[in-house]
Amino acid sequence: PKKALIIGAGIAGIATAIRLAVKGYQVEVYEANSYPGGKLSQFEQDGYRFDAGPSLFTMPQYVNELFKLAGKNPSDYFRYQKLDVVCRYFYEDGTRLTAYANAGKFSDEIQEKTGEPAAAVKHYLDNSSTVYNVTNHVFLERSLHRLKTYLRWDTVKSIFQFGKIDAFRTMHKANEVFFKDKRIVQFFDRYATYNGSNPYSAPATLNVIPHLEQHFGAYFPEGGMYDITSCLVALAESLSVKFYYNNPVAEIVLQGHTVRGIKTNDGVIDGDLVVSNMDIWFTYHKLLSNYPKLHPQKILNQERSSSALIFYWGIRDQFRELDLHNIFFSADYEAEFNHIWKEKEIYHDPTVYLNISSKYKPDDAPESCENWFVMINVPANTGQDWDALIAGARENVLNKLSRLLNKDIRKLIANESILDPRSIESRTSSYQGSLYGTSSNTQFAAFLRHANKSSKLKGLYFCGGSVHPGGGIPLCLLSAKIVGELAG
Ligand code: FAD
Repeated sequence: PKKALIIGAGIAGIATAIRLAVKGYQVEVYEANSYPGGKLSQFEQDGYRFDAGPSLFTMPQYVNELFKLAGKNPSDYFRYQKLDVVCRYFYEDGTRLTAYANAGKFSDEIQEKTGEPAAAVKHYLDNSSTVYNVTNHVFLERSLHRLKTYLRWDTVKSIFQFGKIDAFRTMHKANEVFFKDKRIVQFFDRYATYNGSNPYSAPATLNVIPHLEQHFGAYFPEGGMYDITSCLVALAESLSVKFYYNNPVAEIVLQGHTVRGIKTNDGVIDGDLVVSNMDIWFTYHKLLSNYPKLHPQKILNQERSSSALIFYWGIRDQFRELDLHNIFFSADYEAEFNHIWKEKEIYHDPTVYLNISSKYKPDDAPESCENWFVMINVPANTGQDWDALIAGARENVLNKLSRLLNKDIRKLIANESILDPRSIESRTSSYQGSLYGTSSNTQFAAFLRHANKSSKLKGLYFCGGSVHPGGGIPLCLLSAKIVGELAG
């Protein structure tokens, strides 16, 4: 059989390995870390378990599809539950909102708590659904880089409906037209952060994201987010995929314009095709550093998505008003995003995201305790004085949570670790520590992501959050699907 070499066991690398194995390839995955999953990993801290990176799971069908491809029944291997409460929201003015999965209940909640008519919310979600129906085939599920995509009837139909996708105003401007209440505008603006973008510059097309969450739902895997990684690694292994950990790839080896294999610490390994799951910037700058003429400068120089600062706190208490996902909004969202995107620093009143997996999986924390994953959006790493920024942010976050929860959180912290843009960059080779590859802050971003197949080097493919169609688990899984089709 033909041999496929995959660089990186991130979620997209694992999914690509499964797809190629199903196609009959002999597949080997080389991973720099001692564990799989990249950003989607987990760790233990004094009796508390934490998912290190992603915490929101949407579009489980893309995971299920992999089991089905391998002829297995997904629910025998991977179980998850749908959330009735998607997220709890806390505003500085004291407003508390519950985002129910049920659209009717959710719209009623908004009307009751803010006075914004339920009908306006319904109208908004209908619009979001239209944008999804027009865009998903073209922008997400296919390669944008081959003619065949543009010749398909559903692509042609989508292009004729382009007016509907609202690409020429910003998310924020569009949301202001839909809603009078500033709290609700802020609520829907937040979806820009789902791919690390800025609602004050990202196109309103991204208002499709609430549809994904509301219509398709949010889920929690039975064993926590890390289940996605571990179940897919087990599936890959059952298809004879071999994983080599602690095995950083140093170079992609070429013969003329054809890929011959990869170079690791053990020497050159030959393969018929190579798929890089390494961030596209590092793929060129590290693995193809001898071939600067091949570097697609325009794509590599694009603005990166935002990064994150995370405090993992073991908390010696339980909070009934909190759920799995919780947001504590900043009082001035525009100022917060200006700090992230223009000043490239951290705003003194950041929006805080608090995830507590022990709400659904009690053994993630000792009895009467909770595992708090406390995250704020921060700029990508361009050499800021992170130690100083983190010290200031820690105080501000503690003050904010203590204020909005009426309890001194400092006293409850049993243990702590911190992830910041520098460690995100060094642990997963993500350029500038960006969470989602390039930002979506312009209407052209979708067309400027790197293709899933090299146009210059035969046998070279790309998957993962820094290439088409973009970052986040569902899109990473779609990048693997496109590679599977292109390599067919
Ligand atoms: P990565 O996870 O980036 O992994 C790449 C792998 O390649 C790593 O294991 C790395 O070690 C390995 N590698 C790199 N270079 C080499 C080399 N030269 N040789 C060998 N191995 C190499 N997404 C969501 O859907 N929902 C969320 O709630 C969410 N929240 C997030 C929160 C945080 C804090 C972070 C960091 C990310 C979040 N994301 C979320 C984004 C999501 O985690 C990523 O988009 C996705 O996991 C990226 O997967 P990937 O396949 O691109 O690879």
